[in-house]
Amino acid sequence: MAPHQDRAAHLVLGTLLAAAAACQTVPSHPPVAPPTAGPSGRLLVAIVVDQLGSWLAEERWPELDPAGGFARLRREGLTVRELRYPHAVTDTAPGHAALFTGVAPRGSGIVANEIIGPGGGDPESILADAGTRLVAIGAGPLDRPGSSLAALKVETLADVFKSSRRDARVYSFSLKDRGALFAGGRRPDAVLWLDPASGAFVTSTAFATSTPDWLRAAGDQAAVAAARAPGWTLSDGARAWVAAHAATPDDQRGEGNYAGLGRTFPHAIPSAKAMRATPAGDQLLFGLAEAALAHIAADRRPTLLALSLSSHDYVAHVFGPDSWEAWDELRQLDARLAAFLGALDRAFGPEGYDVLLTGDHGGSPLPELAGTPADRWCRKNATAANDVDRWQRPCGPRHRIVPAELARALEGALVAALGAGPWVTGIADPLVFLGAKARALDAGRRQELIDVVRRVATPLGIAEVVDLAHLDSGACAPPESSRAALVCAATRPGQPGDLYLLQAPGTFFDPNYTPGFGTSHGTPYLYDRAVPLLVRAPGRVRAGAVIDAPVPAATFTRTAAALLGVRAPAAADPGDDVIRTMANTRASAPPPTPGSAGGW
Ligand SMILES: [Zn+2]
Repeated sequence: MAPHQDRAAHLVLGTLLAAAAACQTVPSHPPVAPPTAGPSGRLLVAIVVDQLGSWLAEERWPELDPAGGFARLRREGLTVRELRYPHAVTDTAPGHAALFTGVAPRGSGIVANEIIGPGGGDPESILADAGTRLVAIGAGPLDRPGSSLAALKVETLADVFKSSRRDARVYSFSLKDRGALFAGGRRPDAVLWLDPASGAFVTSTAFATSTPDWLRAAGDQAAVAAARAPGWTLSDGARAWVAAHAATPDDQRGEGNYAGLGRTFPHAIPSAKAMRATPAGDQLLFGLAEAALAHIAADRRPTLLALSLSSHDYVAHVFGPDSWEAWDELRQLDARLAAFLGALDRAFGPEGYDVLLTGDHGGSPLPELAGTPADRWCRKNATAANDVDRWQRPCGPRHRIVPAELARALEGALVAALGAGPWVTGIADPLVFLGAKARALDAGRRQELIDVVRRVATPLGIAEVVDLAHLDSGACAPPESSRAALVCAATRPGQPGDLYLLQAPGTFFDPNYTPGFGTSHGTPYLYDRAVPLLVRAPGRVRAGAVIDAPVPAATFTRTAAALLGVRAPAAADPGDDVIRTMANTRASAPPPTPGSAGGW
């Protein structure tokens, strides 16, 4: 079925939602219920597909197997076409924090994936915590710093779940700490991510000093080694399907060679680090989830099982979303998701579990494609007014900014303009970190510094240089109506970072996986800021329904809380969960489209 074929049938619903929402008063801070044993527990599976933008889902879900996981979730559940993040910094840590707390970085404190410390040096994870140690599955504590939620300023969904249901259990798995920790909250039963150096899944002493034995076979060194051993190959059938769908040849200019993976099929997978940018990463995470299912099914306590599928993001970063690799990763993810749903059916019965699926941010194509016949973005825009489509995908040149190169260029220009430095200690997407000398400048000289930064950065694709020392908090309202509001929501007074570099459409900061190659995300435009949301909740949302109108990111948080039977996190942005929304619109909503696997 062609994309958009059944869209018209759903358009009515979106317009009803605003009216339904407007006539409700939902207290955003209901009283905390005392802990209870609760009824026999349901299972909520919360899946984040890292870098799954609305534009990509709209283009690719209709091309996937009708027997695949995405099509099944869409048939059996509700599709929200556009969940919008309220912040400009559309990256993994801010996105996952927003999903699992309901609040933008201004509230959460999670202002970037990485930050640069007061002494300068390389960027490090915003979750890095020198007071903790990594704990590897099968090997115990390692002599290396771990991660924690010390940087997070607010409670999470899992924190509420754990404090209000004494029998609640929480499991969270990802390839990245920033993909796992926010869903796991502060008292997870298990939170695991991949440590490329040791080639095994790890947790942190912030959460546990050992890992459950029943997870060992799914996530130890041997499991990771076995997952990467076969390499990444294409069967004849897969090769034909990928070649028919990908916009570019297998060996496309601009693709990176990440950790020895090479740029064309077949890909040998030389290390656990390289494995992250292959479908083997998804296989391992689903394997951990299925190990958890066997454990959960034994006693049926209320459970949150969170998966953040990171390989979708790594593959797009390295090869670009139009590559053979990106199409095959999505094809395999879809098939593996279907198998996982089958495992859920067997363990809990088809009515016995709920699923939420969304993305933490979107992404953009290789800049090398801009202006070429392979550039699907601009082809799609050709019929849209002003060359801007629903997802704000730009025509024209796109820019890749390598942060270390920009930092050197800024320092050179600042020395020339202001005298001996150091002025800039580093750049961690999207923040410039200034040295003590720069911070001590008076207002006039600081403005000179900003002007120099603007003069150097603008030709490289930076649209605005925002001085965070002088960000008017009034710019935060009204929500998401302006770039200033999106930047305001992305930043927090007193948090690390001095200047915010707001990218022009199509520009991104090189994520340093394969410097000078590949692509990224992190802009305030809807190709990065809008993600889909699927809600499968038998008996609670109508199968096959579609919400076309944009909903805020906190809709995910509030829906997850409703499905778990607990209040939303205290700081969560106001709004509805989709169950309430659907209940209020049911009388007037159009009937579900049977078997609506195609289009929206
Ligand atoms: Zn990413």
